[in-house]
Amino acid sequence: MNADHAVQLRLLDLQAADTVLAQLAHRRTNLPELAAIAERGKHGVDLHNDAIDAETRLADIAEDQRRLENEVDTVRSRQARDEQRLQSGGLPAKELEGLQHELVSLKRRQATLEDELLEIMEVREDADSSVAEIGAKRAALAAELAELEAARDAAFEEIDAAVALRRAERDSIVAEIPADLLALYERAREHGGGVGAAMLRHRRCEGCHIELSGSELTAVRSAAPDAVVRCEECRRILVRTAESGL
Ligand SMILES: [Zn+2]
Repeated sequence: MNADHAVQLRLLDLQAADTVLAQLAHRRTNLPELAAIAERGKHGVDLHNDAIDAETRLADIAEDQRRLENEVDTVRSRQARDEQRLQSGGLPAKELEGLQHELVSLKRRQATLEDELLEIMEVREDADSSVAEIGAKRAALAAELAELEAARDAAFEEIDAAVALRRAERDSIVAEIPADLLALYERAREHGGGVGAAMLRHRRCEGCHIELSGSELTAVRSAAPDAVVRCEECRRILVRTAESGL
């Protein structure tokens, strides 16, 4: 394959643009913010589950409290009814005795229920503060996430602007390169880990960093300036410059 030597030199500019584009793509997918966001996301799932557990526990306790409060109300109204009947007077002795007896046991029951209610209110306080604590953690995490996402978006914006610039540069270089040479470059780049064209500097291929052997050097020396030369070792396009040491 032949190509004007000036065009071959442009392959090095194309390679430089592609190398920078690959670095930018690597940077974009490996931003530290992305790992931090994923880590916070996992933590957020844990906290979400903790919140559900704490809220369920609080709801159960609240239900117990309501049940006890209803029971206290029932006992109180029963007491009030009994006391009213006592005050209204004119009860037969046996019924009077029965009522007094019931009032004593109702008072005892009320005292027990009120103790239980106090206990449950303390437990509820704990459950309330644990819900609040988890809520505060989630809010802090959300703020942290928002900050990380803003930093990620700023980095994306900066990288994307650099990519757009390099792509435009690449497009203009590509326009100067014949289709067959470009296809060869792309093939070599695909097989060469992103490097398709390398400078021959001081008799060494800058793609694989191997020095050309005597016979290879002779072949390269005798090649016409517009001949497209490839490295025998790595098959990349070797671009000859004043620094090639030929
Ligand atoms: Zn090579």
